[in-house]
Amino acid sequence: MIKLKTPEEIALMRESALIVSKTLGMLAKEVKPGVSTLYLDKLAETFIRDQGAIPGFLGLYDFPNTLCMSPNAQVVHGIPNDKALENGDIISIDCGALKNGYYGDHAYTFEVGEVSEKTRRLLQVTKESLYQGIAAFKTGNRVGDVGHAIQQYCEKEGYGVVRELVGHGLGTTMHEDPEMPNYGRRGRGKKFAEGMVVAIEPMINMGSHRIRQLKDGWTILTEDGQPSAHFEHDVALVNGKPELLSTFAYIYEALGIDSDEEVPFRQTPLVI
Ligand code: MG
Ligand code: MG
Repeated sequence: MIKLKTPEEIALMRESALIVSKTLGMLAKEVKPGVSTLYLDKLAETFIRDQGAIPGFLGLYDFPNTLCMSPNAQVVHGIPNDKALENGDIISIDCGALKNGYYGDHAYTFEVGEVSEKTRRLLQVTKESLYQGIAAFKTGNRVGDVGHAIQQYCEKEGYGVVRELVGHGLGTTMHEDPEMPNYGRRGRGKKFAEGMVVAIEPMINMGSHRIRQLKDGWTILTEDGQPSAHFEHDVALVNGKPELLSTFAYIYEALGIDSDEEVPFRQTPLVI
């Protein structure tokens, strides 16, 4: 069942989305060669608790940490460890937080030091596909329209769109209806309605879409060992249009990146 949110609930969800956005912004300055994912995880846990929120993933389905940290060929759900990041790595950081009873859920794939042009392209296209998907999240459209937009955009580059893992509705639980696949057919699936809040999160492989899981029961990685990228925003359907609740602005501020990519998806000005 899809739980539609009132404007008051959406305002609370914006607060949770901004906490995870700020957390990734804080981490953006810390991601560099020589730093371990476990170190970053501890920084994030402290940061989230200092904002009066609770880490959203810690203990969820028994996940052992605050962040899902998935480097290189890992797609999602990687477990932080004490291995140092290396120059040329990419690292997907997925962050959840719970405040006022509502979840935020947000992910960005960071470059560690100098990354190859081919890998940078994967990150760029995956992030662009996220906005293609968000643009299709509007009144009159259906779940398949978002998936179709993302799939088309990535497959024309020759990339593989992961099938087994999907975006989702978001609210008082981390995963609500509807499922939001990153593939699909136009005009198919559940219809979008005012007050829906979803996490849209393309998981895109440089090579085949096929994945496998490590014996740890969590880590998902590409079957062919090629890199995978993952970006995630929380979006509400307001006035028939997508309204971004999360933001990469804190990351861009930390990294000195100038971007207006979020402007078309903001009816409420972002105050950071
Ligand atoms: Mg996430
Ligand atoms: Mg998610």
